[in-house]
Order: sequence, then C-alpha cells, then structure tokens
Amino acid sequence: MTGPDPRQFLYRNLDPDTARQLAHKHLAAHDDGELYLQYAASEAFGFDDGRLKTADYHSSSGFGLRGVSGETTAFAHANEISESAIERAAATLGLLDPRTGGAAPSPQRTNQSMYGAADPLSLVPFADKVALCQQIDAAARARDPRVVQVSVTLSASWSVIDIVRADGFTASDIRPLVRLGVSIVAEQNGRRETGFHGLGGRYLYGKLFDEAEWSRGIDIALAQALTNLDSVAAPAGEMPVVLAPGWPGVLLHEAVGHGLEGDFNRKGTSAFSGRIGERVAAAGVTVVDDGAIERRRGSLTIDDEGTPTGRTCLIEDGILKGYLQDRLNARLMGMEPTGNGRRQSFAHAPMPRMTHTFMLGGKDDPGELVERVKDGIYAKSFGGGQVDITSGKFVFSCTEAYRIRDGRIAEPVKGATLIGDGPTVLTRVKGIGNDLALDEGVGVCGKAGQSIPAGVGQPTLLVDGLTVGGTAA
Ligand SMILES: [Zn+2]
Repeated sequence: MTGPDPRQFLYRNLDPDTARQLAHKHLAAHDDGELYLQYAASEAFGFDDGRLKTADYHSSSGFGLRGVSGETTAFAHANEISESAIERAAATLGLLDPRTGGAAPSPQRTNQSMYGAADPLSLVPFADKVALCQQIDAAARARDPRVVQVSVTLSASWSVIDIVRADGFTASDIRPLVRLGVSIVAEQNGRRETGFHGLGGRYLYGKLFDEAEWSRGIDIALAQALTNLDSVAAPAGEMPVVLAPGWPGVLLHEAVGHGLEGDFNRKGTSAFSGRIGERVAAAGVTVVDDGAIERRRGSLTIDDEGTPTGRTCLIEDGILKGYLQDRLNARLMGMEPTGNGRRQSFAHAPMPRMTHTFMLGGKDDPGELVERVKDGIYAKSFGGGQVDITSGKFVFSCTEAYRIRDGRIAEPVKGATLIGDGPTVLTRVKGIGNDLALDEGVGVCGKAGQSIPAGVGQPTLLVDGLTVGGTAA
C-alpha cells in the first residue's frame, strides 16, 4: 500500500524496540502473555425518516498487558500507549506466580492475509456517505406506496494492532470492516410490518456504494415487510421445521457453537465437555469454524493472540472432533490453539470465540426437503433469541417464516418462535441441503460483555420435532 505506515498510530509515544524490551521485562517470568497495542477508528451513520439522525466518529488507542501463569490471568490496560503507562500497568503482573516450566511457545508466523490494509473511513468523503443513505431511503420509498418508514445504517471501522511477546515475537494486523443495514416498515389496511437486510465485510466502502448491492438489500427488506403484511398466526406444537440456508445458521452459532468454545469445556460446564470422539449429531452433520475466508466479516489474518486463523473441524459426520481454543485453554487442555483467541479491544483480555461457524452442505436437494414435510414450518429468517450458551437451550423468534402444507411452502406466519436445545437439535437433523450459504456479513457475537463481529452459515436443514411456540389460539 501507499501512504504512511498504519503502525505509526501505535508508536507516537513509544518505539517498537522499547515495546519489545517492556514485553520481555514484564512477561518473561510467566507462562504466557503479550503486550497488545491497538489504534481503532470507527464511524456510524443513522438515517431515519428521510433525515440524518446520527453521525458518530470515534478513535482511540491503547494497550492491554496480559500475563498468564497456570490458569491465572493478570490483565491491565490503559488508553495511552507510552513507556510510563505500560510500567504502571505492569504492577498488576507482580501478583502472578513465576512460571515453573518453560514458557509457552510463540505462535507460528504466517504470510496469509485475509483483507487489505487501507482505511475505509478516510477514503470516502463524509458527504458521500450521507448521500448514499439518502439515496437508499428515497429508492426504498419509491419502490412501493406501502413503505411508510425507512432506516439506513452505514458504519465502518479500522483497527491497527501489534502483538508483542516476551521473546521478541511481534505480529501486526490491520483490519477494515464495513456494514450497511436497511430496515423498512410497510403499512396496509392499518397493519404495519418490518423487513430488514444487511451486508458487509472486511473491505472498503466501494461494494456498499454499488447500486446493485444496496438495491438488492432494499428488495430483500421490502419483500420481507410485504410478506409479513399477509402473515397469519403461527401454529404451536412439535413439528418438523425446515431452516433456510445462510443467516438461520445463527441458531447453530448460539445453541451449539458457544458450547464448543474451549473455556466452557475446560471447566466442564458445556453440554459437549469430555465428549470428543463421541457421536453428538446425526450422521452427515459436519460443523466447522473458519476464520480464514477472504474479506468476510468474521475473518482474521491472525487472532488477538497472534495465532494464524484457519479452519477447525468441530463436528465431523456427527462425531465431536474438537473445540475452539485460545492459548490459555489450549495449553491447559493439552491441545493446540486454533486461532480463536479474540477480544473486543485492547481493554479486554482474549478468550475463545467463534469466527465463522457453519454446517457444511450435504447431498439433499433443498426443494425435496420441503416436499418431505406434510405439516411444518419453513423458517427463512431469525431476529433475536434467548440462549443459555452452555446448555444450548434456546428460544428464537422468526422474522420471516411460512407454513409448510403437504410438501409446499404455504402462507406466511407471524410470531413463530423455535424452542429447544442445540445438542438435541443436532441429533434430529433429518436432511442436509446441498446449498450451503454464509450470512451476508452483519453478525455480532456477545460473550462475557465483549462484542465482536462474527459470521454464521448453513445449508437448508430439515429438523424433526422442534417445538414451535405459535401465536394461534
Ligand atoms: Zn455468539
């Protein structure tokens, strides 16, 4: 790339040699740890009812200093990258026992790169971003007279990171991220319904400014709102459910993915603890986490501990194969880190987190999976859900769903909720479509107060005997 080195944002009051000396001085006595330096800028525009309602810009820089001995972590952070601030933070590490064995080896180096280094925020003038929101708003209103409200959100961030370890290991990453969301409310005969579509990834604004892209976003959001205008009360009871490909994989993320994170399994609190090698899902079910997909929202070149990302097989043909690991949990469990040590920012210690977690495609024709259902639900899109992430018990609300009658998708239903637990659902998968799709890049994953971008995906799935909480009397 051209222009100044982005790492200059990290080294305004500290030089890289001093950073390495400080990391050595304060971390060499411990099993593991790092000095994590970060500069981040973010912006968000909210356009509502034809007007710009919010425009936010935020930039920050700081460090997190983490020492680990055994299973104890000492962590201190500050929003000033300087020798004196790091020295002050290091006092916290004095509480740790010194290591008794060898230090944990530093991560392997990588030449992989999942995205470009350019800063999306600075490449497009402010006025153009507002104009795009305005254009989308006007286009959505012009599309159908029933459109009564349009909300557009446009946001981007750019993060520059150095990870410095006691042995001199230094890894850098520069992460762009953009996102566009379109929400439409349509009204008909006094009834109002909503539709939403969003997209994004680790690239520059260019793709979001492409009319074909945002216009498609309007089409999808509008179609969902109009469909919901005709929806009828959802049935209740246990019935087969066909989950659409793509975003409905959020159910897999919440109800299964979190339970495969190393920390819950080391502590024995997950439904999957101690079960590697056992059958945990129906034959044909293969679930992976893959942080190394170019330009995708949940992708990382390296995780927040410096470990290169890759594809981790979690469940293969129904058999539990592995967990998602950060360095601490991997070391204590005698396993390898999988590139899933992530943190919200320099102000947080890393923990095992998902990147893109998805079920691989199978052999079934998606249309044929619907044909197999005499009476059931086709769940095309989900909104919020409530999940106990260790047991996998969930209640998910459909934002777009249809009744299936005699093998055909019939009337749209309103307010359908799906109730169950992830481990049981995995055993009730009766058909796996050949149409794997990842979501379009809008997911946010929350865990222990930390939010990070993540992706989900799955093919069309036929699940038998899911409990549908309906709205019908
Ligand atoms: Zn999550």
